[in-house]
Amino acid sequence: MQNTPSPLFCVKCAQPSLVQHGEKAYRCNECDFVYFHNVAAAVGALIVCNGQILLVERAQQPAKGKLDLPGGFVDYNESNEQALKRELLEELQLPVNDMRYLFSCPNRYLYKDIL
Ligand SMILES: [Zn+2]
Repeated sequence: MQNTPSPLFCVKCAQPSLVQHGEKAYRCNECDFVYFHNVAAAVGALIVCNGQILLVERAQQPAKGKLDLPGGFVDYNESNEQALKRELLEELQLPVNDMRYLFSCPNRYLYKDIL
């Protein structure tokens, strides 16, 4: 006798329509919501030059168009330092060799109006 897996319900539309979508996500077949099932570490850089702080404009939701520190999510098998160097190169074409740790803090990331 084979067990049928329980349906996975979408947190947005409440339909039993979540299906595996890549290594760490599920996608809803009804409303296309993508649920990322992971703890996502992120890094940000405070870049000061000539007494000014470098900010970037967010290209994607949430908060698209608002100012932010350059940075992004840490990938699998990547240290925070490697992630920050990669993000700064991707976003700003800025190679970084010298950085200092400032602090860490928990963060709730609003994604498609769901925390
Ligand atoms: Zn849905």
